[in-house]
Amino acid sequence: MVLLLYDRKMKKRLLDRRRRAAGPLPPVGEILRGTVFVRRLRCGKATCHCAEGEGHEVTYLSVSLPGGRSEQISLPKSLVPMAKRWVRNYQRWHDVVERISAINREILRDERATKSRRLTRTGRRRRRAK
Ligand SMILES: [Zn+2]
Repeated sequence: MVLLLYDRKMKKRLLDRRRRAAGPLPPVGEILRGTVFVRRLRCGKATCHCAEGEGHEVTYLSVSLPGGRSEQISLPKSLVPMAKRWVRNYQRWHDVVERISAINREILRDERATKSRRLTRTGRRRRRAK
């Protein structure tokens, strides 16, 4: 009986944690995996200030693809805020997916332990947990 209460409490706590972990999420349509970074480039014109100075700032979105490839898209200044927002949204989703996955692993372990205790109580042989 005590164990049963413990099992229920544990389960409720995990489910509460899972609910809290989800929280408010940005629209799934506005996510973008990748990183936004700035590179300085010289345009090659001998008369341009960049020939001597630091070079022009160019912002890119870079994303790694399967097979070790990566794709880069140069971004005009007007698109940088949106790209950054989408990347932040992706990170938020990613964090939530990881957090909920961790909680769900705990739920699986907890369920397994609960079932194993129930089997023990009903007198059946207890299986070893892996
Ligand atoms: Zn230049």
